[in-house]
Amino acid sequence: MDLHTLTVGGARRLLDEKKISSRELTRVFLDRIAAHDDTINSFLLVDAADAMARADAADRQIAAGNQTVFTGIPMALKDLLCTRGMRTTCGSKILDNFVPQYDATVVAKLKQAHGVILGKTNMDEFAMGSSTENSAYFPTKNPWHLAYVPGGSSGGSAAAVAAQFCCAALGTDTGGSIRQPASHCGVVGLKPTYGRVSRYGLVSYASSLDQIGPIARSVEDAALILNLIAGHDPMDSTCASQDVPDFTAGIAAFEKEGLKGMRVGIPKEYLGMEGIDPDVLAVFENAVNVLTDLGADIVEVSLPHTAYVVAAYYIIAPCEASSNLARFDGVKYGFRAHHADDLIDMYKQTRSQGFGPEVQRRIIIGTYALSAGYYDAYYGRASQVRALIMEDFSQAFDACDILLSPVAPTPAFRIGEKMDDPLTMYLTDIFTLSANMAGVPGISVPGGFSADDLPIGIQMMAARFDELSLVRAGYGMEKSLGLNRLFPTL
Ligand code: GLN
Repeated sequence: MDLHTLTVGGARRLLDEKKISSRELTRVFLDRIAAHDDTINSFLLVDAADAMARADAADRQIAAGNQTVFTGIPMALKDLLCTRGMRTTCGSKILDNFVPQYDATVVAKLKQAHGVILGKTNMDEFAMGSSTENSAYFPTKNPWHLAYVPGGSSGGSAAAVAAQFCCAALGTDTGGSIRQPASHCGVVGLKPTYGRVSRYGLVSYASSLDQIGPIARSVEDAALILNLIAGHDPMDSTCASQDVPDFTAGIAAFEKEGLKGMRVGIPKEYLGMEGIDPDVLAVFENAVNVLTDLGADIVEVSLPHTAYVVAAYYIIAPCEASSNLARFDGVKYGFRAHHADDLIDMYKQTRSQGFGPEVQRRIIIGTYALSAGYYDAYYGRASQVRALIMEDFSQAFDACDILLSPVAPTPAFRIGEKMDDPLTMYLTDIFTLSANMAGVPGISVPGGFSADDLPIGIQMMAARFDELSLVRAGYGMEKSLGLNRLFPTL
């Protein structure tokens, strides 16, 4: 049996039946990373000794009968989740030497469960990007086709899952960074409701939009990971005190009655849109048929402010980023430029040398938009548009239970193809940004392949805190299409 293709659920069963040990499983992944990651470049850091020590500790827990779902499961973490004693760069030179003194809440939860951390995955610098090419270190390649991007900004996590370097991974999603790379790499990505998962210890990009979530090989695994990481945290005042259900109940609901009674909304503004690749449309149309066959009722809905989503997001996110990134000044964290004339010069040089071009661009846009005299025209206006987008979603969810859409207008693009044209890159986020603007959950599940054999995902969104509907419909789609047992050959 190919241990590297195991899901979290599959590995759990073998570990519990004592057919494999966590040490054995961890070794399999570490060997595979050593053999192939110099081609894929999905990891920024692999700590084999730490991983093996955690695997041994997990095996002792299992021997004593003390295991929980993640005991001994090898996972990868996007490199903006603080890991105590383990370098956390956020894909940036400015944090090149940053070793956190504490764990993010999600990391602490994984450690408490005796999960195994294999390492930290590559990403666009400060999660700004859609291709992982903005990493200050190196671009990650799409395991399905090395000339293509894996998507971003959690491209390292998605590529690591697709390349079978780990059972599953954590990513973050501010405007699509879990769902879009999951789509481009042929895996499952779930962005939870804003507030569902603690952001404590996540290096902030845009605090009102950021959420941590799973990138996995199956919908079941995404639900299991959400079970692990969701829930109130006193360390994050935006983390909701909402009850946390067992998200795998969505799978049980599907097994019991399919999608009977589920209303699936198709936003009419999405379909006539220009620039959608015909392969993406074909995958989308097939998904509509699959859901119908499973018993869902298709309804047309309207999201009237769709045309303003990209513009409003690309004001709000840079504004929040310009404020959040003010802390990287060469004094408190990481890199400091040498040979500065005075304090102001030290700030300037540190930030000019430490941040890459896309991050500098966004800090400048955000600072400009927030400056006195412009605030009302830009940030204030964008916030009003955001309120209208939220209203669009709440009205749509009166008429349907889930919204169905593409994840991205095209399959993965070629490395380098959009690097000279930031605006074109921003426009590829059209289908994913709204979920963050409205705070609603979204999932990407594999939906098919392009003519060039690149994976194409399907997006479903639900009302706030209704991840259960996403698990139910996502699982139905996965089971019908049977794409989750296909892997790229490395
Ligand atoms: N591509 C979007 C951006 O660059 C979203 C990134 C994200 O979700 N972190 O801002």
